[in-house]
Amino acid sequence: MSPEKLQIALYWGAACGGCDVAVLDTNEFILDVAAAADIRLWPIAVDGKYKDVEKMQDGELDAAFYNGAVRNSENEHIARLLRQKSKILVAFGSCSHMGGIPGLANFTSKDKILDTAYLNNPSIEPGNKTVPVPETKIGDDETLDIPEFYDQVYKLDDVVDVDYYLPGCPPAPHQVKAVLLAVVKGELPPKGSVVGAADFAVCEDCKREKKEKKVTRFYRPWEIIQDPTQCLMDQGILCLGPATRSGCGVRCPDTGQGCRGCYGPLPGVVDHGAKSLSAVASIVDGKTPEEIRGILKGIPDFAAIAYRFGAPASLMKRNEKQ
Ligand code: SF4
Repeated sequence: MSPEKLQIALYWGAACGGCDVAVLDTNEFILDVAAAADIRLWPIAVDGKYKDVEKMQDGELDAAFYNGAVRNSENEHIARLLRQKSKILVAFGSCSHMGGIPGLANFTSKDKILDTAYLNNPSIEPGNKTVPVPETKIGDDETLDIPEFYDQVYKLDDVVDVDYYLPGCPPAPHQVKAVLLAVVKGELPPKGSVVGAADFAVCEDCKREKKEKKVTRFYRPWEIIQDPTQCLMDQGILCLGPATRSGCGVRCPDTGQGCRGCYGPLPGVVDHGAKSLSAVASIVDGKTPEEIRGILKGIPDFAAIAYRFGAPASLMKRNEKQ
């Protein structure tokens, strides 16, 4: 640890690991970060221990980057710890920003998830009824603790105060690099800003030719031979580009997949899914309710598409209480 260097930490909550890979995808730039900063905690790369973070002075870290949602008591403990020990806390990636893919669990319940994973599952040994619990007695006076699995998924700012949001699933490496550089140089925008992203929609960055949209049938990308020059929505392929903040480099539409919405809503939009629904509703070319219903049947599970990255950040937060 060097007093001249920035002190930083990175943590992985309920996430797939893609955000940590995005940090590594900055390639040799990560060596510049290591030259400018001491990385005090980064579970996939550095042997920092939670107890070492617990012993730090409050505010001893200059910046902490938390990726992943808050799904269990360990995630919450580390979120609170990093908030206490760090001057700046960045919600890194879709899961900490909006709940992300783990947040789709808010469409069901804790009991149903545990039932599917541990009880009614063909890969479970017949007769095995073991469901994990937070505390298990081992012998007379020993207890084994594991984190408590919560009944819903939270985004980071449901639990602690967050200074900056870096969206994306994962954030594009060039944006990760830009934000790390801004932290190193101390050139950050006002608290609460979304960083590493644009203030306009993906469509504005997309080079595909746009026409007046009138969709009479929706297609999955593999159901149609695409015209690579034309807007996907014009061809009936669902794309959340009109409702989603740009900054990713138009990664999905450029490869023939509709934007999935991982960069989140545009500034001022309260509910990303509702905005996405509005964008889709405006292009459906049906005359009668039956006709419109028939066209919309081409979109399987619209709730999971529109809220793929943000159910915990939506107005409903979850659809079922225990
Ligand atoms: Fe590009 Fe999708 Fe917008 Fe069409 S809807 S212009 S494909 S981002």
